[in-house]
Amino acid sequence: MATLGNPGNTIEVLQKYKFNFQKKFGQNFLIDTHVLDKIIRESGVTKDDLVIEIGPGIGTMTQYLCENAREVVAIEIDKNLIPILQDTLSAYDNVTVINEDVLKVDIKKLAEERNGGKPVKVVANLPYYITTPIIMGLFESHVPIDSITIMVQKEVADRMQEGPGSKEYGALSLAVQYYAKPEIVANVPPNCFMPRPNVGSAVIRLTCHEKSPVEVKDESFMFNIIRASFNQRRKTLVNGLGNAGFLPVTKEQVAEALEKMELSPTIRGEALSLEQFAHLSNMLKK
Ligand code: SAM
Repeated sequence: MATLGNPGNTIEVLQKYKFNFQKKFGQNFLIDTHVLDKIIRESGVTKDDLVIEIGPGIGTMTQYLCENAREVVAIEIDKNLIPILQDTLSAYDNVTVINEDVLKVDIKKLAEERNGGKPVKVVANLPYYITTPIIMGLFESHVPIDSITIMVQKEVADRMQEGPGSKEYGALSLAVQYYAKPEIVANVPPNCFMPRPNVGSAVIRLTCHEKSPVEVKDESFMFNIIRASFNQRRKTLVNGLGNAGFLPVTKEQVAEALEKMELSPTIRGEALSLEQFAHLSNMLKK
């Protein structure tokens, strides 16, 4: 089987198997070898690594990963791609394909069983319709991870990277930055995919913190505060948190905490940094 990653060989495989793209699965296959080389380089994958790939498609990036990693586990939801992957990956004995919805796979258990609990690397050209649940699922289940190098919608990559003061800044930025250091490493135009997506894409590397940059008494409480702050973005924090319903805090308590932090009583959540959210939630946590 020839290497994929270019339009000619990709079309040949698609025709051989009469493959029909499924829009509902976010199927946009990479057809640009420069982008593939760049992703592999930026992921820092070596022959010591177990790599988890989410959504291998016809196996384009999987081939590159097999060449560079010790072992690859690729999780693909579309059963029509499984016989294709058996063919395109037949030259490699260091790959396992799992036909499953990634959101239902116990990745922590997988990392423990196959990598003795050592941190794994995640590399993927993600299905865009479930980018956030995939990333948050990886972080929140405390899978041991070194880094996550992923292709996502450009706008989502921006949101992950931004800080206070930017209109892209929000709950996703804070969640990602609590667990990892985000760096956009490439912008990728629609013509690098088949079929072309309607949006621009970017490769972002999330290097997981060994220790979180902030001390938090109760992670889920802090994330509830963050969620409430951005649910009602235009409201002041005092009103947003005091009226959230799912938070056991009153407006007076929020006002008092802000005063102690020497912040304006009319400040909005979008102006607070991760450190300030951590501080605020530690104060509000009984
Ligand atoms: N890695 C391939 C490439 O770069 O050419 C394909 C990337 S394509 C953007 C996303 C892939 O994720 C598709 O193969 C799609 O079928 C798969 N996928 C979509 N939803 C999934 C899910 N919930 N679990 C696992 N794979 C999924």
